[in-house]
Amino acid sequence: MNRISGWFKRPPAVLRAGHPSLRLRAEPVNPADLPTHKLARVVSDMRAVFASPYTPVVGLAAPQIGHPLRIIAYRVEDAALLKERKIAAVPLTFLVNPVLTITDRAPQAKWAAEYESCESVPQYNAKVRRANEVKVEGLDLDGEKVTLHAQGFLAKVLQHEVDHLEGRLYIDIMDPKSFRHDKYIDKYEVYATRSR
Ligand SMILES: [Zn+2]
Repeated sequence: MNRISGWFKRPPAVLRAGHPSLRLRAEPVNPADLPTHKLARVVSDMRAVFASPYTPVVGLAAPQIGHPLRIIAYRVEDAALLKERKIAAVPLTFLVNPVLTITDRAPQAKWAAEYESCESVPQYNAKVRRANEVKVEGLDLDGEKVTLHAQGFLAKVLQHEVDHLEGRLYIDIMDPKSFRHDKYIDKYEVYATRSR
């Protein structure tokens, strides 16, 4: 018996690139609906993706599992990732109706390009140029206002997830020549530095 068939909730399927739902602008959540059982299914489905060993995500947007709502979640707890990035752990956090503002003073051409991946484009990764600092305002699951200032890795995760709410995938803004299969991680580096 594997873990999936035990007590563990079977995670919903993560939609893959090519599914039209990933290309829609997600609908705002009515703040009057927070907290409420109406969103319980969405939240529990999103939690199930984070709990599954088969979907090792750091971030997830509700549209990726077929709920066209402006809800994102993120969690940065993988020990290897924390060590590699020298960052503090972030427990699973939900943000409703997030509004992201880039606070990085550097011009876009100076933003660093780093490899990104996405459960909607499984087994691939590519370099994406992102701002290093952002501010995100939104609501928590109790409907309380939240303002978050994030830098580095977390800032990039937040930009990636908020993009999903606009129907954007990282493959839309990646450096196409850096696109590679996971099996070539640590094997080849064909990315050529250039400004866009
Ligand atoms: Zn994604």
